[in-house]
Amino acid sequence: MIPVDEALRLILDHVQPLEPERVHILEGLGRVLAEDIYSDVDIPPFDNSAMDGYAIQAADTQGATTEDPARLRVVANLAAGHTTDVVVEPGTAIRIMTGAPLAAGADTVVRFEETSEYRTGKWELGEQVELYNEVRLGANVRPRGEDIRRGELVLNKGTLLRAQEIGVLASLGRPQCLVTKRPRVAILATGDELVGVEEEVGPGQIRSSNEYSNAALVQKYGGIPVRLGIARDEVQELRSKIEEGLAAGVDLFLTSAGVSVGDYDIVKDVLGAEGKMHFWQVKMKPGKPLAFGEIRGVPLIGLPGNPVSAMVSFEQFVRPAMLKMLGRSSWEMPTVKVIVDHDIDSGKRRDFLRAVVEHRDDGYHAQVVRGPRGSGVLTSMVRANALLVVPEGVDRVKAGDRLEAQMLDWHWG
Ligand code: AMP
Ligand code: MG
Repeated sequence: MIPVDEALRLILDHVQPLEPERVHILEGLGRVLAEDIYSDVDIPPFDNSAMDGYAIQAADTQGATTEDPARLRVVANLAAGHTTDVVVEPGTAIRIMTGAPLAAGADTVVRFEETSEYRTGKWELGEQVELYNEVRLGANVRPRGEDIRRGELVLNKGTLLRAQEIGVLASLGRPQCLVTKRPRVAILATGDELVGVEEEVGPGQIRSSNEYSNAALVQKYGGIPVRLGIARDEVQELRSKIEEGLAAGVDLFLTSAGVSVGDYDIVKDVLGAEGKMHFWQVKMKPGKPLAFGEIRGVPLIGLPGNPVSAMVSFEQFVRPAMLKMLGRSSWEMPTVKVIVDHDIDSGKRRDFLRAVVEHRDDGYHAQVVRGPRGSGVLTSMVRANALLVVPEGVDRVKAGDRLEAQMLDWHWG
C-alpha cells in the first residue's frame, strides 16, 4: 500500500501533455494554448470616444462655469461604426457616441451629462452646446493601442483559455488557435454482475453506473470518453476490450472493478502480459484498491468497483492525469479551509469524507453527509458538495477543528 501523494506522483510521472491541434477558438474553452499569440494590430485600432458626448478641443473650455459656459457650434453627429470628414476646429464640437472614432481636430470628449443637453433635458442634436466646466485634456478618449499594441506578446503558450482569452483572440481576428489535444479516455467496466443501462436486470445483476459517472467526469474535465462497455470477469474478454481501445488510439485507460483482493488477478494478468504494473493499493479511504500500470505505452488506471470509491479515486488521480495531458500546469482540487461541525473518527489511511460545505459568517463549515455512507451508496455523493480530507495519522477530529475540503462543484479548479 502506498500513500496518496506517492501514488499521484507515480501517475503524473507516467503521463505527458498531448500534442497540439488547431481548433476554432470556442473549441478552445477550458483548454491550454499551445502557441504564443502576438498581435499584428493595435487595439483599439483608432482613438475613439469612451462616452456618449461631444468631441471638442479641451482648450475651448478654459474658464467655463455655470454662469459663463463655453458655447460651441455643433458641426456633426457621429455614431459608432461611422466616420466623418468634418474637423473639430476651435469653437466647434461633434456630437459623438461611445466607440465612434474621435474626429480629426478633437482631443477630448465631454459627457452629455455635463452639457446643456442634460440641463435642458433635450437629449438631441442642436445647433449649439454649452459646457459648464473646464475639462481635462484627453478626458474620455480611448487612445489607439491602449489595450493591445501591435507586435506585443498578448497570450503566452501554456495559458488556460477562459472566456476572456477567447474574447481577446476574437478581437485579434483569430478564429482559430493551437491548443493541446483533449485526452481520449477509454472507459471500461468489468464484472459478471453488470448489465447496461438499457438492459433488464436479471437475478444477481446490477446496472453498471461507473461507466456513466466516469464518462461524465472525463467530459467535465475536458477529455473525450471512449466507451468500451462491459467486460466479463475473464482475461480474454478484458484483453480484447483493451485491444479495441488501443486500436481506437486512446490516451488513457480507465477500468472499474476487478482490482480488489478477490478478483484483482484479471487486471493484473492483462497488465502483466501486455505491459507493466506500477502500483496496486493506495492508503486512502474509500478507494484503497487502485491499480496503475501501462499497456503498450498507454497508461491504465484501474479504479475500484464501488461507485463512491471510483469517483473519489477519479478526483484524486484521474483528474490530475487528465489535466496534465491537457497541458495544464496545476491540478490541485479547489480546496477551502473548513470548520468541522462535529466529531469524526478516522483511521490510519487518508480519509475523503463526503461532506456538505456551506459558508457562514465566520467562514466555511463542513458536515459529513447524513444517511447511509457505504462506498457503494452513490446517493451519498449526490448529497455531497465536497470531500472533507482527514490526513493520514489523524484518528480523531473534534467539533471546531479545521480541515481542508475539496470542493466537488467548483469546476476546473
Ligand atoms: P469489485 O471491485 O469487482 O469487487 O466490485 C466492488 C463492488 O462494485 C461490487 O459490489 C460491484 O458489484 C460494484 N461494481 C463493480 N463495477 C460496477 C459498475 N460498473 N457500476 C456499479 N457498480 C459496480
Ligand atoms: Mg467484481
